[in-house]
Amino acid sequence: MERHVVVVGAGIVGASVAYHAARAGATVTLVDAGRPGAGVTADSFAWVGASGVRTGPAAGIRATATEEYRRVEAELPGLPVIWSGSLSWRAEGGAPEAGPGQEIVDAATVMTLEPNLRQPPEWAVWAPGDGAVDSVGVTERLVAGARAHGARVCLDTAVTAVRRDAAGRVAGVETAAGLLSGTTVVLAAGVATAALGAPLGVRVPVEPSPCPLFRFRAPAGLVRTVVNTQDFDLRQVAADRLIVAADSPERTLAAVRSTFRGTGSVELLSTRLGVRPMPVDGEPIVGPVAEVPGLYLAVMHAAVTLAPAVGRLVARELVDGIVESALSGCRPDRF
Ligand SMILES: Cc1cc2nc3c(=O)[nH]c(=O)nc-3n(C[C@H](O)[C@H](O)[C@H](O)COP(=O)(O)OP(=O)(O)OC[C@H]3O[C@@H](n4cnc5c(N)ncnc54)[C@H](O)[C@@H]3O)c2cc1C
Repeated sequence: MERHVVVVGAGIVGASVAYHAARAGATVTLVDAGRPGAGVTADSFAWVGASGVRTGPAAGIRATATEEYRRVEAELPGLPVIWSGSLSWRAEGGAPEAGPGQEIVDAATVMTLEPNLRQPPEWAVWAPGDGAVDSVGVTERLVAGARAHGARVCLDTAVTAVRRDAAGRVAGVETAAGLLSGTTVVLAAGVATAALGAPLGVRVPVEPSPCPLFRFRAPAGLVRTVVNTQDFDLRQVAADRLIVAADSPERTLAAVRSTFRGTGSVELLSTRLGVRPMPVDGEPIVGPVAEVPGLYLAVMHAAVTLAPAVGRLVARELVDGIVESALSGCRPDRF
């Protein structure tokens, strides 16, 4: 049977699904209302945080997130990933037990990793395998990879509805430019996924979860790893630039100055409010919708970390007809 997959949404999730499905031999159409990665993917802190406690339905996927990134890096040379490791600590309390991929390090080791700290913490959790990405760059590279495997990419094309045939099976999606036909429709539209499912009677329990992202001007070489404290998630993305996920720019600026030396010239450049697609139970929603044959959902938080793994697993389900046990805790019918 010909697999013609229409993927709605060219954020990091939809781009990864489209890339992996096209690479696996499906006929793929990727459609987005705007440009690749211009949704919340553009406002992500983009930490590939694959270490730490691994419990819950997505634990298996998270456990493979780093190796899945390294696989995509090999397949798509030039993928903008930095394997800097991550350092986490809290002002209060003792050191936790190290989780998978983590070590507890002392103050002297912390200073070798982040030499510009004013006062190193007594302990920190060091995850040497963690990294971070240019999330828009990764998304664009996945879209280019999908194209190279024959995918059709329709940008600036809003989907207005999912079309069903007389038997109730999906037949494609409606857009202002006409019907885009397909035998399977993957809704990977981030926070908009719920609105696309509603007219079909499909409830997608995803809530918009706003989170600010600040850009600061900063001196070169100030920060070397992904730093996570009670005040912020912070990393250096260019010689003169930091990005920080935190609550308020004033508090964040004060926290950066009190945490690092040489921060007199640090100043706020911009504030963005990214709206994350947050499933009500916090876990990914990935899988077919039983009531609408041919409809498939792919929506989650922490999607920058999970996208390569999820994209490959979804493609195997859609193209090879394999039921992936790694996705069994993520199914839409759990609600
Ligand atoms: C401040 C902040 C920090 C974060 N930090 C991290 C982190 O460190 N690590 C991590 O893993 N995750 C992080 N996240 C979460 C992560 O960014 C998101 O989980 C991820 O970007 C979601 O990707 P997506 O493809 O599902 O959604 P989106 O990027 O929003 O993509 C959805 C796409 O669907 C398109 N679309 C919507 N409606 C339609 C329609 N009707 N027709 C056609 N196209 C449509 C949109 O245009 C958009 O391009 C963070 C988020 C924020 C805001």
